[in-house]
Formats: sequence, C-alpha cells, structure tokens
Amino acid sequence: MQAPTNSQYDVLIMGGGFAGNVQARPLLRKIPGIRIAMVEPRSDEEIASIHKIGESTVEIAANFLARELGLVDYLIEHHPPKCGLNFHWPKKAGQTKTVEDYHSVWSVRFPKIGAFQLHRGKLERDLMEMNRADGVHTIQGLVKDFDIVEGEADHRIEVEVDGEVREVSATHLVDAASRKFLTGRKTKNMLVGPKNLFGLDTGAAWVRVSGVDRKIFRDGMDPMRSSTSNYYCTNHWFGHGHWLWMIPICRDSMSLSIGIVCHNEVLPGKTVASQEKFLAFLKANHEVLYDLVKSGNVEDFVYWTRPSHRCHQMFSKDNWYAIGDAAYFGDAFYSLGTSTIALAVESVTEIIRAKRAGDADAEEKRAAYDGFNSWYGGTVVHLYRDHHKHLGHAGAMSWRIYFEYMWWFGAWVPMYLGKWHLDPEYCRGLLRHCERHFFKDFYDDLTRVVDEGRNIGWMDSYRADQLAFGYYPPQEHGEYLEDTIYEPQKLNIYHSVSRTYLYSAVFWMKFQWKAFGVLGVLRPKTLYHLVRLLKQAAWVGLGSLRHRLKMGGEDSSTSFRQVQDEMADYAYKPSLQPWLGEDGMPLPGLNGVEAGMATPANTVGVGAVSSDVLAGGAPPTAPVSSSAP
Ligand SMILES: Cc1cc2nc3c(=O)[nH]c(=O)nc-3n(C[C@H](O)[C@H](O)[C@H](O)COP(=O)(O)OP(=O)(O)OC[C@H]3O[C@@H](n4cnc5c(N)ncnc54)[C@H](O)[C@@H]3O)c2cc1C
Repeated sequence: MQAPTNSQYDVLIMGGGFAGNVQARPLLRKIPGIRIAMVEPRSDEEIASIHKIGESTVEIAANFLARELGLVDYLIEHHPPKCGLNFHWPKKAGQTKTVEDYHSVWSVRFPKIGAFQLHRGKLERDLMEMNRADGVHTIQGLVKDFDIVEGEADHRIEVEVDGEVREVSATHLVDAASRKFLTGRKTKNMLVGPKNLFGLDTGAAWVRVSGVDRKIFRDGMDPMRSSTSNYYCTNHWFGHGHWLWMIPICRDSMSLSIGIVCHNEVLPGKTVASQEKFLAFLKANHEVLYDLVKSGNVEDFVYWTRPSHRCHQMFSKDNWYAIGDAAYFGDAFYSLGTSTIALAVESVTEIIRAKRAGDADAEEKRAAYDGFNSWYGGTVVHLYRDHHKHLGHAGAMSWRIYFEYMWWFGAWVPMYLGKWHLDPEYCRGLLRHCERHFFKDFYDDLTRVVDEGRNIGWMDSYRADQLAFGYYPPQEHGEYLEDTIYEPQKLNIYHSVSRTYLYSAVFWMKFQWKAFGVLGVLRPKTLYHLVRLLKQAAWVGLGSLRHRLKMGGEDSSTSFRQVQDEMADYAYKPSLQPWLGEDGMPLPGLNGVEAGMATPANTVGVGAVSSDVLAGGAPPTAPVSSSAP
C-alpha cells in the first residue's frame, strides 16, 4: 500500500474491509474524477489470510456485487456458488450423528438470483487491488483521530503510518472501521445492550476448517429432495437457545466455516468461548458437525461477546457516514450483513454524487436515506427478537422462517432490484408503514406455542403446496426477473408489497388455526390484524395501479423495447458478404485479415504467421500447416 502523498481528498474511507472496499468501487464508477483515499492497517497478505465471518451472501448482496459492482465473472471464477439455505433440527437431542437424524428444510433448486459463498480474505484483497488499479489511494495505516466538522468544511484526519502521524483532509468521511465505532464514539451514536436491541443478547464463536471430508455431511445432492447441491448451501443447525452455521468457503482446500450464535439467557457465550469448549459442545449436541471438524484441520478459532448493536444515525448532514458494522449488526442468521452494506453503500454513493453535482434535492435524499437505513438497521435487529425462545422448536421456527421469507422476497428483494431504496418518497413511506408491531404479535404467539408445547406442524419455505394458490415465499410477485426490469423505480414494488400483505393475511389466519384453533381465529387481535393486513393490501394495491398509470403500460425494460423496435422492420436476407477477391485471396480489411497476413499458404502451425516471415526473414522451422484454423 501507499503512504499519503496528497493531503486532500474528496472522500476518505476509514477501514478497508468489505464495506470500505465495496464503497470505493461505486464511487469511482459513478463519479468520474473523484479522489478517494482508503486507510487500512492490514497488509495485503494479512487481509488475504484472515478468517472473517460474513462469507455467505443472499439476494441483495449477491446482486449488488454481480451487477452493481460488475464482479459477476470474478465471483464465478473465484468463489463457490451458494445453492440456498437449509435448516436442520435434531429429531432427538442425544442423536445427531448424521443429517438424517434431523428434521430438515432443504433448498430445492439453484436460487433464481445467483449467490456466492465468499472467501472474505481473498475477496477483500482482490477488491483492494482492483480499487487501487482504478485510482483509489490505499494507505496502510491507522486512523488515530479526526474532527467532525459541521457543514461543508473538510474533515481533518490523523493517520498513523509506520509510527508517524500525518494529517490529511477530506470533504466526505466514511466510517467503515467496523466495531472500532470511530464515528459512533465521537458522536455518541451507538445503541448497545439488550435493552436497545429488543432483548437480543448473543455471543458467537467459530472455526475455519480445511480439508474436510464432506461425505460425513452429504456428498453432493439428494436427488429425491432437490436438484441442487446440499453442501454448497448455507446449512443452519438448531438447538435450544442456539443455532450454528456451516458454510463452504473455498473449493480448492475444502474449507468450511462452522460457527455458533448462542443466546446468553439459555446458553451463555462463555460455555463455548474456547476452541476446546466449542468442540466439546459440538460433540455433545451436533455430532455430525464435530465429525466434520475432526475430519479436517482447524485453521483458526474466534469468539466474540455481544456482536450486536445499532445506531441512531448513519448519514450525517455534516458529510460523515457510518456503514457496515460501524453502523449496525443484528444476527448472522439470514446472512444479511453484506446485504445491509449494499443498501447503505448505494445510498452514500448517491448522496455524495448529488452533493458534488449541486443537485437541489441532495439534502432531501440524505435525510430520507439516513432515515430509511437507520430504521432498517433497527428492523434487522428486531428480526431476531425472542429467537432464544423459538430456535430449538422445529415447528415454530419453520413457521417463523416461512413468514420472514415472505417479507424478504416480497418486499426487500424487489425493493433493492428496483432501486426503490434510492427513492426518497418510498423511503419515507416505509417508515410510516413499519410492521414491527405485527411481527412482535406473531413472535408472542410463537412463544405461547413453545411454552405450551403445542404442535403446529411444519412449513417448508421452498414448497408451493404449503399456504394457498401455489404460493411459496421465494416466488416473485411480478415477472421482473424474467423481464429484466432493472431500471431505477420501474419494477412495480407496490404490486409485490400488496400481494405480500395479502398472503400475510392468509398466513396469519392459517397460523392461528393451526396454533390455537377456532379461539385463535376469532380472537380480537387476530381479527384486528386480518382487517389491517387486508386494508394495507388494498391501499398498497392502489399504489400499484398508480405506478402502472405512471409507467404508461411500459413495464418492460428499455433495452428489450429497443430490440423489439429494431425487429419491427426486420426482413430476412439470405446472403453472405464477399470475403475472397478474384484472385481467390481474402479481401483486405475484413475481420482483421490484412493483405499479406496468414493465409493457407503461409500460416505457421495453428497460430498466426511470425513477424520474421511477414518481414521476409528466415522461414519458420515449424512445419507449415496446410489448413488455416
Ligand atoms: C458471527 C457472524 C457471522 C456473520 N455471517 C455473515 C454472513 O454469513 N453473511 C453476511 O453477509 N454477513 C455476515 N455477518 C456480518 C458481516 O460479517 C459484517 O456485516 C461485515 O463483515 C462487516 O464488514 P465491515 O467492512 O463493516 O467490517 P470489517 O470487515 O471488520 O472491516 C473493518 C476494517 O476496518 C479496519 N480498521 C479497524 N480500525 C481501523 C482504524 N482505526 N483505521 C483504519 N482502519 C481500521 C479493520 O482492519 C478492518 O479491515 C456475520 C457477522 C457475525 C458477527
């Protein structure tokens, strides 16, 4: 990395982990000429070798990396595919030797939006190299201190490089230094502890293991259950007060990341706080995972107390921004971390672009994006409310996952794909229609199910025969994927959200019936939510109508319309262009074939003719091929 040569930048990014690197790239791509510095204490070698969690992507992060950052080929070539999420609960607590000892929800096919399991160290090192090649000034150093300056004046930042402190300044300051909470401490921005996190109180421990024998889990797929790999999914394993992940992170070395999130109320973090204790826990509670770990080599072990937090504000009017773990983190359960970073990064990019361009609505955007992203942070944390009570109950959790999937695929994924999170009006609308209270009522009912030992059966999120009308949560409510409706705010998000409300009403009634019978169905709270959900479905449905009118029926992508327009005058002409002259030799200038270039008579081997031959020099020693490739 370089030392600071220039002391003034448009943007200074503190931290060159995932968030810092993926922030630099769209800034460069969207704002020509922008001067960016990124400060990161680790060397490239250290970055590549470290085991960071955050390996599994879901739809938003995967689409962001592939489409927004243009990394799709890179991802295919360097990181394993992700084939969905599987969930496993032991049938009997003491019998966990094989995956057949578990009740499972299996991903049934490759996801429609291709996702990847990331080797984080490799990804961050590669991104850093790409950013550097594109002009980001990467500084190997440590941010020691900085000023938060009000208004548009530059921030001053002290950076320590090789033991020497230097001062640099930047108009925009991005805090991507994760749990150092650089802006969080300075502005008293952080909300920590269970009281601020809807009761969430967890610890996490994990190992990276290479050279595992994956047959201990399952070799490949189960052809009667799914058409995709079971191993390349993120596998979730459950028990009382905890869940574990199993993520393949490298094809070549057969490496797995295996870790636990434990809820302190049930399973205090300290009981798994060393490698020895963690492995002993696996042996007692998830033997199949223990055997997997034992089949390979443990590369490293990490334990974190209380990984969760959130913040009041993410994007300040004083041009500082907190993204990634510097802003919020809930739980690793749905692998949302990198997706939440995608939303924040696109917002920051648009704010900085609008401010630099002097757009009249720059401040309106900043305020709306800040409101939405900070609120979304709280909503993500809320998603894990009362997890400790539900995790071990297979039936209750299968319903919970089904319901949360409905909103992920019905509201959040299409919001991202349609870039609605960059529409200030839509952002403000989301805050007005917050559904946390409904989720809480559902969670309370699940707690009752668990406490009273009720059996509410099983909901498989991937199957189309579980709820009604062939619906299943990952189903799109419109054809936006097939029709590639990706231009900003074109995809009809209102249609998706309206239908999500409608199916939530169906889900709610079915759940009440299964859980509490007729009394549950007729309860005032049940009826209140039923009416409310249906009203919301109708109200948002009107928004869908308005959107259609606004689009004038043009709900197809512009590039496809262009093809259609071009094809309107299409007439088939069965002809070939001439390529040989009267002398039987290729015409000059066609497809790079110049006069005197390779011909059947002068081609060497299977390649092009050598420059010696072109220059009339010594003839080639290789045999002359009689047929050009
Ligand atoms: C147990 C667990 C499992 C998870 N699993 C997933 C998952 O499967 N999928 C997913 O999407 N998310 C997951 N997450 C979340 C994900 O790990 C984070 O959201 C993501 O790593 C955050 O990236 P970041 O860039 O903010 O932080 P980091 O990747 O930690 O980067 C911060 C960088 O800042 C640098 N830094 C620190 N101090 C300074 C300083 N003073 N000056 C300059 N630089 C500094 C550090 O060296 C580091 O490189 C998980 C989280 C946890 C806790």
